[in-house]
Amino acid sequence: MILWLIACQFSMDTAPEPTPRSPDAPPTVALITIDTWRADHFSDDLTPNIWALAALGERYEHAFSPMGLTTPAHASMLTGLAPWENGAWANNHHGYGMDAKALTLPDRYPGWESAAFVSAYPAGPVGGLSRGWGVFDGPESGERDGSVAVERALKWLPSDRPALLWVHVYEPHGPYEGNGQTERERYAEEVSLADSIVAPLIRELKARNATIVITSDHGEVLDEERCSYQHERSISDHVLKVPMVRWMPGIEPKVISDWVGLTDVPALLGGGRIPERPNWVAQSGMCESDCAPGCSPAGLRGRDTVAMDEAGRWVERPGRGRFSVGTPGAGVTDLIDAVPEMPQPMDPATEHAKSLGYISTE
Ligand SMILES: [Zn+2]
Repeated sequence: MILWLIACQFSMDTAPEPTPRSPDAPPTVALITIDTWRADHFSDDLTPNIWALAALGERYEHAFSPMGLTTPAHASMLTGLAPWENGAWANNHHGYGMDAKALTLPDRYPGWESAAFVSAYPAGPVGGLSRGWGVFDGPESGERDGSVAVERALKWLPSDRPALLWVHVYEPHGPYEGNGQTERERYAEEVSLADSIVAPLIRELKARNATIVITSDHGEVLDEERCSYQHERSISDHVLKVPMVRWMPGIEPKVISDWVGLTDVPALLGGGRIPERPNWVAQSGMCESDCAPGCSPAGLRGRDTVAMDEAGRWVERPGRGRFSVGTPGAGVTDLIDAVPEMPQPMDPATEHAKSLGYISTE
């Protein structure tokens, strides 16, 4: 992985600068998602290429995911709806996916060329994330190097037509590879690697005067919690808080402290101003009582629901009831009450996933 990074750095340094396009060229809108990227691992040191873009555009300090699972979080970015509103309650290999009626990102750009290049099975077509894209390219099982997605995206980008692009990079997701002595060090290396992988794409998109949003589907628990190096069993900020950046021509550079969420991604890509959110509601991906004491039943149905504002959070934990941390507003609990009960899986996608050789829980 490190040898590859050196090779990548070399090719980036020697690659020709993209040719700037005229302002009246057909528009490009692009979403880049770095899987499993924690908000506190977004910095000039660790992720210099994305940080440099953020310095020229908007950096959202308080952006949240609705769930630490890849399929639901990406479905929220594509639809602007929470998982319990768009049907993607859990990962595709759990047997859940987007409702056929949910409008997805390409539906907002009729007549545009569109393409998605993803790097792991949970972001793949089973579960509905491929719906509406003119081109959808991803591995049929497991994961692949993010460089493949970036190279194919650069090759695909049309110059004479409006273009909508989604590129997904999976490097920071476990298991972490690298030279570091600890898991934490190797995780940071993977985050840096993801930043270097998307650098040529950022340069090309910027030269095209594209509207660019870069974010993550969820963060990661490192060594801070009872269950470490995972994301599906936690509702902490380590998992729910994600980096978010927007750049487009003429944008006023600023750091934005208003709360936003992954459901705001379609509006951000559309160039709109995001109204401030006073609160956010999210769920854990699943219950494991060793990780969340008292949760029951084990698995997807015992997941926690959390509603939070700046003063604190309310947690509804099946098997233990509702409790608060800090002093959240009483009205925040209405958000928990509005989340419907989880339905049964749609179909035997789990068996399908097994048949493809995908055996991870994420
Ligand atoms: Zn993910």
